[in-house]
Amino acid sequence: MILIVDDKPENIFSLKTILELHSFPTDTALSGEEALKKILRHSYALIILDVQMPGMDGFEVAEAISGYSKARDIPIIFLSAVNTDKKFITKGYSSGGMDYITKPFDPDILLLKVKTFYRLYEQNRELNRIQASLRSEIEFRKKVESELEEALRKKDEFISIASHELKTPLTTIKAYVQLLDRDIGADDPTKMYVDRTLVQVRKLDNLIVDLLDLSKIESGKLKFNKKIFNFGAVLSSAIEMIRQTYPDYQVVLKGEGDVRLYGDEMRIEQVLINYLTNAVKYSPDNKEIQVEVACDKDQRLCVRVRDFGIGIEKDHQSNIFHKFYRVEDAGRFQGLGIGLYICAEIIRRHEGEYGVDSEPGRGSVFYFSIPVAESKALGTVTE
Ligand code: ADP
Repeated sequence: MILIVDDKPENIFSLKTILELHSFPTDTALSGEEALKKILRHSYALIILDVQMPGMDGFEVAEAISGYSKARDIPIIFLSAVNTDKKFITKGYSSGGMDYITKPFDPDILLLKVKTFYRLYEQNRELNRIQASLRSEIEFRKKVESELEEALRKKDEFISIASHELKTPLTTIKAYVQLLDRDIGADDPTKMYVDRTLVQVRKLDNLIVDLLDLSKIESGKLKFNKKIFNFGAVLSSAIEMIRQTYPDYQVVLKGEGDVRLYGDEMRIEQVLINYLTNAVKYSPDNKEIQVEVACDKDQRLCVRVRDFGIGIEKDHQSNIFHKFYRVEDAGRFQGLGIGLYICAEIIRRHEGEYGVDSEPGRGSVFYFSIPVAESKALGTVTE
């Protein structure tokens, strides 16, 4: 709405008629005082303000408006007699006004100015609306984000406490079941149950060890005891362990693993066992697993574990090394989705690279490569 302020009703009438003819809604005030009261109560897009009025003149009204936070940005067009001195015009501008029209005014010029100001006002209002909604969106996101961190922190804390608390009684159970297994005769009818219990206890133990590793990674406490070691020995031990645990599977070794690496051999063995266990787990119908070992021209050892199992869709391949990521199809296989995440961290901490090539229904190749040891790396270092 446009507020017309003039002490002469006939002036107000002619301005109101022109503006309303062009669909601008108007309001009127016959004095500066009345105008100020109205400005406090309503919001206007533009004020057309007569300069010469008895009581408060137009400049005084403009100055008072500039003191109202709610109204100080409303543009003002001053209306004044043609002979107005230049210094009054300047005064008009400095007290918050925006434009100036001399009387008798040209209706076309007036309309042009009104249209421009009106458009600016509407654009401004739209910008303010967008700004306010952006601000509230930002506030909302900040709040959700901080709740989500907080939630992640609590989850990590819970995982850490729960896995520590579970580990102690489980270690005792494992020790007693192992004792029982050793003491029980091979032909004892309960031997089968003891063996099955031991298998399940080992599975549980592996899960808890993974959870403990996960919380160590999260808190930056995953430690490595690095020294030079022979990779061939570690590889043989990992393959042997898989052969014993899964006698139906055939693990074929291709290539020579007899190289020296600098790293934490237990952790490297953990990666191998993880890749191999997954190869077994995700190949229920094809029981051959191939392990290919080779050194490339950049003196990096490259290990590839190939299975002929269910494979992985392209879309999932880049995610499976992320924490808790499991392909939906894997739902029929048990797991927490943290094994590969831990492997990735271990390989990264050995300046290594890792990845997967896979085709759904045909199998997968999980690989990693790490630098072969340089002779300068001697002794044991804890990182
Ligand atoms: P988990 O096996 O406990 O789910 P991992 O972190 O070891 O966790 O693996 C993450 C996901 O990657 C698995 O849930 C599975 O979807 C997929 N995956 C891993 N290894 C293989 C494989 N050899 N063949 C097919 N899918 C695999």
